[in-house]
Amino acid sequence: MPLTLPQIDAPPVGVKTHCPYCALQCGTVLAPDGSDNGVSVAGDAGFPVNNGRLCVKGWTAGDLLHHPDRLLAPLTRERGRPFRTTSWDAAYNRIAAAIAETKAKYGPAAVGFFGSGALTNEKAYLLGKFARVAVGTPHVDYNGRYCMSSAAGASNKAFGMDRGLPFPVSDIALARTILLVGSNPVDTLPPIAQWFDKQRESGGKLSVADPRRTPTARNAELFLQLTPGSDLALANGLLYVAIEENLVNPDFVRDRTTGFDAARRVALTYHPARVEQLTGISEADLRRTVRMLAGPDPAMILTGRGPEQQSKGVDTVLAFINLTLALGQFGQPGSGYGCLTGQGNGQGGREHGQKADQLPGYRLIENPAHRDHVARVWGVDPASLPGKGRSAYELLDSLGRPDGIRCLVVLGSNVAVASPHLNNIAERLKSLDFLAVFDPFVNETAELADVVLPVIQWAEEEGTMTNLEGRVIRRRAVVEPPVGVPSDIDVFGELAARLGCGDRFAFASPEDVFDEFRLATSGGTADYAGITYDRIDRENGVFWPCPTEDHPGTPRPFTWRFGHADGKAKFHPVEHRPAGEEPDAEFPLYFTTGRYLEHYNSGAQTRKVGKLKGSKPEPRLQVHPELADLHGIEDGSWVTVECRRGVAEFTAEVTTVTRPDTLFAPFHWGGRGAANLLTNPALDPTSRMPEFKIAAVRIVAVRPAEGGVA
Ligand code: SF4
Repeated sequence: MPLTLPQIDAPPVGVKTHCPYCALQCGTVLAPDGSDNGVSVAGDAGFPVNNGRLCVKGWTAGDLLHHPDRLLAPLTRERGRPFRTTSWDAAYNRIAAAIAETKAKYGPAAVGFFGSGALTNEKAYLLGKFARVAVGTPHVDYNGRYCMSSAAGASNKAFGMDRGLPFPVSDIALARTILLVGSNPVDTLPPIAQWFDKQRESGGKLSVADPRRTPTARNAELFLQLTPGSDLALANGLLYVAIEENLVNPDFVRDRTTGFDAARRVALTYHPARVEQLTGISEADLRRTVRMLAGPDPAMILTGRGPEQQSKGVDTVLAFINLTLALGQFGQPGSGYGCLTGQGNGQGGREHGQKADQLPGYRLIENPAHRDHVARVWGVDPASLPGKGRSAYELLDSLGRPDGIRCLVVLGSNVAVASPHLNNIAERLKSLDFLAVFDPFVNETAELADVVLPVIQWAEEEGTMTNLEGRVIRRRAVVEPPVGVPSDIDVFGELAARLGCGDRFAFASPEDVFDEFRLATSGGTADYAGITYDRIDRENGVFWPCPTEDHPGTPRPFTWRFGHADGKAKFHPVEHRPAGEEPDAEFPLYFTTGRYLEHYNSGAQTRKVGKLKGSKPEPRLQVHPELADLHGIEDGSWVTVECRRGVAEFTAEVTTVTRPDTLFAPFHWGGRGAANLLTNPALDPTSRMPEFKIAAVRIVAVRPAEGGVA
């Protein structure tokens, strides 16, 4: 069955921009029209990532622009009282005063900022600068930490550079074989399926490793339905087979890598019989998988959130990189390792300083030379820059605690739905002295705020995004924002002026921010110095690194050398270990989470779009028929699920998609059906990624559909 959506050509007139949602950043053409939205959305047939195709989220994104729930004026309130509208001046004054009072009483580290992979590069850059220069706090992090941070950590260790996909998505069509691990792009990145279709039409093969038989897995030649949390053991087992069957590429390993012997020694302890015990995957399937990937024809391994959102996510990705390196699958188009990043600007968002350990250009905040460079661009003393702050979950877990954050500002992120262990996060948010949220809508996090500041949306703003390929693209303003509603860039200017450093945040336009940001990235790993708005328009996007204006950009950075100083990739010996929480007698089932085609992240936007809400109005708990029989669950039954941290309630979908030992629910909702009431905040030691994919749970109540609660 072909995976591709029908292609619909763009209308003849309109402005080219990009979808507001996921990391594919599909090209769109927006044309002002007489509809309620004021704009029509079509796919851009000239953008080489999606070739005119969009998923249903992209087609309907215009519904957000003039949505009746859209906030048009700031909201403020005293604790325990309802929101009331206030003037922009009063809102800015209140936020600036809260920051200044918190600094005076507890010090700058008591102020925290939480950003988003949805912010443009310009806004992510300014957020990091504002936190460090205007406030002086180390505590700025973002929801990308919940997305691809384990793959980023592994790529930095192995390659010396984190470029989610170190090749254009069109390379997928050139691979003879693809091993896709814990990713379901048919639902999460639908237009990318055209490249998988082309690969198959040319005789290519696809293997999928996933605990669920997803729509993507149903199209694979080989489906490895592994035990949740056993991906690392699977990868080591595949490397064992590659070594045993003499499928390792010795020339590549000798010339382009270091550290193979140590990785080899560890892999040789993963005999197929041991791996079958850990993963449930047979020796025959292990051998088939490796044989499909090995040889002179190009093959690639792609990972998604499945192996990454684990407390051993970095080591798990490293194990798959070890396998790709050992097989010598780098250098020719159609080969390599890549991460299918999720969030719209997940890639750019992690490069430019809204992450607790980083400065713009992928510089490190604890590296003295890196601090010097950025401090020079910002016109401040390097010694004045704070050090490394807390990671996303740790930052939120510190709210209101002694030595924790007392005043928090959240931009474009719905942490009250998107974070693990939601009962704890809700309690922490309520314990703050002050919470400000910048967002076009009142989401579950904003409901807890003292001030909510409306900001402009995607089709109303100029800026740049960096998609999952490392391609820097333009977001264009097509429609007028509501009168008076500012960009976050203007908000930083207003607040900085009130905090006494307005001159450092006085920018005439997003392009003005971009020009300073180019200087800040110059010479860094993610070097954008040679990228200009004009070039992006002319060249349909520019791939970083791009150090000078006459540099062509770098679509495939690892063709000849890797990012480490010696130009070589590094093997890392990595061992399987249990998840932070494994099923036991008390909590005997796995619980795992993921996405619906119709919704994006916490659903704060997509739950407001009629077509999307109508198609998927609620989260449904996938239960295997064998387990359903055991508990008397029918399709539509209400099922209460409990873990050590909380209880959630869902309607059941009885299906063979999932395993008999594994429950699945999407994470796009808050309230009683919030999947994150059950997820485990156990963190990866390197990436600080929470273990969203594995929790131990039990079924505690089942009620027939007619007896359910609203
Ligand atoms: Fe938008 Fe992603 Fe859908 Fe493309 S795949 S239309 S970027 S949500």
